[in-house]
Amino acid sequence: MTELSRRSSQRRTTSPPPHSHHYHSMAPPYAREEPILQDQAPPSYSSLRNLPMIPSPPTDARSIRFRNMLLSLSATPLSWENPGLLDEALRMVPIDRIQTEAEEESMILQAEAESLGKKPEWGYQDCAIKALMKWFKQSFFTWVNNPQCDACFCPTISVGTTAATDDEAARGATRVELYRCSQPECGAFARFPRYSDAFVLLQTRRGRVGEWVSCFGMLCRAMNARVRWVWNSEDHVWLEVYSAHAKRWVHADVCEGVWDRPRLYAEGWRRKLGYCIAFSADGAMDVTRRYCRNPAKYGKERARTPEPCLLHILNEIRSIRRRDMPKQEKFRLEGEDIRERKELQAYVVMAIAAEICKLMPGARADGAQWSDPDAQKAEEARQTGETQYVRAPGQGNRQNPHNPHNPRRDQEGR
Ligand SMILES: [Zn+2]
Repeated sequence: MTELSRRSSQRRTTSPPPHSHHYHSMAPPYAREEPILQDQAPPSYSSLRNLPMIPSPPTDARSIRFRNMLLSLSATPLSWENPGLLDEALRMVPIDRIQTEAEEESMILQAEAESLGKKPEWGYQDCAIKALMKWFKQSFFTWVNNPQCDACFCPTISVGTTAATDDEAARGATRVELYRCSQPECGAFARFPRYSDAFVLLQTRRGRVGEWVSCFGMLCRAMNARVRWVWNSEDHVWLEVYSAHAKRWVHADVCEGVWDRPRLYAEGWRRKLGYCIAFSADGAMDVTRRYCRNPAKYGKERARTPEPCLLHILNEIRSIRRRDMPKQEKFRLEGEDIRERKELQAYVVMAIAAEICKLMPGARADGAQWSDPDAQKAEEARQTGETQYVRAPGQGNRQNPHNPHNPRRDQEGR
């Protein structure tokens, strides 16, 4: 930021005063018609830092429906908060192996950082979650599109849904998918009850994205990490884990086995994103900007409610979650929220700066281009995205309408 303001003020000394621009939070300010000319100053960044948005309560039916849906989604990570069950869950985890792996990685990072005179990128706890994710994906949980035939282990074909048995219902299955063996001489049926209870999933150890994220999120809690469940309006879910070492929330997608690649969905998968909202046991935050750095290119229309209403709804959820907390704890969390809003704001500024530099080649006297410090991550996301496309058929259809966490279906009854 300081670098950016320095450069922009340098430009201003030789330019007429900047035009006044008023940006909305997600509106792409650089999607303007005419390119910036050399003799014009970049837009005023101060308008971005002080968005004049006052939260306002939702009043129209659509906004109220969205509020109720978010309120209900926000309860997802609360279901993991059961100390007794978390202790029990931890017994399923090869903790020695994970600790050894985490110690090794954090020692390597420490040594690398020391040789460069820098702080290591990740701390021990971060490395432990990364090791947990690796074990979970490689050895513990299975991805299921169509379940195997129980009788002959052949592939099956979907024949719709069926009623849950008493046992399935007791374990919380609201829906059971039914499949028939593809071998005509066998013809056996295979049931796929869709569980959402993370502790039940510890036993079944299979599912699609909703099951993966729910079970892994609970195990992160069992390892004492702070976890967020991130709902995305384009039918995907993932997690964020708080890194006490990096002092920020870190993207973690267990289905992909990726850590801190927030640009994976937009720039990697070329997916347009509307809303990405993170919920934890102690808060809620609109984190869309972390995942959609270039709203002009990858942003989707946010029409579920006016932006001031969304602010109000998230404030409401935060205050519910923090209602019974000691004052000091609330204060600490508010500080964390402020830091995160600055972080999210900076992504927008960085994207604008990179875009402006593209529009003004050779604008700087030394001929150097200002480059997006996050560009390497974008490149990594693109590469991961390409791998993803190759791997996609075996990994299941992410647009699958049977996703148990498809909030449009579950929450709005569609
Ligand atoms: Zn069969």
